Amino acid sequence: MNKLTVRDIELGGKRVLVRVDFNVPLNGETITDDTRIRAALPTLEYILSCNPRAIILLSHLGRPKGEPTAGMSLAPAAPALAKLIGQPVVFAGDCIGSAADEAISALPAGGIALLENTRFHQGETTNDAQFAAELARHGDIFVNDAFGAAHRAHASNVGIASYLSAVAGLLLEREINYLSTALAQPERPFVAILGGAKVSGKIDVIDALLDKVDRLLVGGGMANTFFAAQGRDMADSLVEGDALAIALNVLDRAGAKLVLPVDQRIGDSFSDAAAQRVIDSSTDVPAGWQSLDIGPATVKRFAEELRSAQTVVWNGPMGVFELPAFAAGTIGVARALAARTAEGATTIIGGGDSAAAVESAGVAKQMSHISTGGGASLELLEGKELPGIAALSQR
Ligand code: AMP
Repeated sequence: MNKLTVRDIELGGKRVLVRVDFNVPLNGETITDDTRIRAALPTLEYILSCNPRAIILLSHLGRPKGEPTAGMSLAPAAPALAKLIGQPVVFAGDCIGSAADEAISALPAGGIALLENTRFHQGETTNDAQFAAELARHGDIFVNDAFGAAHRAHASNVGIASYLSAVAGLLLEREINYLSTALAQPERPFVAILGGAKVSGKIDVIDALLDKVDRLLVGGGMANTFFAAQGRDMADSLVEGDALAIALNVLDRAGAKLVLPVDQRIGDSFSDAAAQRVIDSSTDVPAGWQSLDIGPATVKRFAEELRSAQTVVWNGPMGVFELPAFAAGTIGVARALAARTAEGATTIIGGGDSAAAVESAGVAKQMSHISTGGGASLELLEGKELPGIAALSQR
């Protein structure tokens, strides 16, 4: 990586301002999934081991419109982090002004303060220079570990880097190493698996990956649009009518590289209680039915394609995995990937739904890397430069 990281700089006695991604799901005051807080621990523990003056944490949560919003306070994250890291975490009710200043100046040596949601101020998402300067005042050095927000040019990850030297945290470094560096020169065969709802949302990823991969396995609702483009009647299935031309163009360019499902699990409604059956891809979907998962023969076919793969990247579920009745395809592919990892392949899971799918299949620990950022990981796979990474100091 060509950016400086937290390991490259002197942190002793410094006020270290860290942008984390504590955008956790909340149910009232309860954090229902603390994965993102846990993901920041290696960086925070490393900084603490360097005896800093203090650690000051910045994050956003949800999408408040530039003002304090009930239900989007970061306050619940302070006790959650304190428990995980084993020391008190002071919460400040604002990320700028006297509330923040007082909390920070009262910190003991090596103390940690978490500041309130940066998106409670308009200046965060407009990347306002004055707001960024007020945030920067809290620290002597800036560490960005918020991979999930790296595709946005906001004040707390990009603007702030105009005022302080800015380095990558360990999580950000790991994400870049897997999603960018490793994929630039993948060990081959290199196989990509794409699924999820829409072709249109992932056309840039398909474009970028087509030139690089040895095989592109397509499942999920996305496959329906490819089938419809080939003239197959998909009945009530999710098909993107606007993307048929795009799909035909991809099929044309990809040739044998692109592997579509050989069978589907169809249902007579979008529900767990639906009647279901498996049909072959050579037949039309009957009227009143919809394709909701890949079928067992496809799981087998995809597993065969994966058998020799040395690098695999996966984004998007193979079916409507949120409904247990249509989760078998996604779980089957997750298990095939876990088996490949055990045999030495590098397996990389894009964030969001694919990460949740691997988690629900119970094989999360068996993957080489699960990204913490959905949108950010897609943009890295597209080969884009992310503003939050571009803003960091060059090595
Ligand atoms: P995306 O955000 O594009 O990765 O899409 C993820 C969503 O695609 C999940 O919520 C899945 O339920 C949905 N999905 C996957 N396969 C299908 C399908 N065959 N029909 C409808 N939705 C699907």
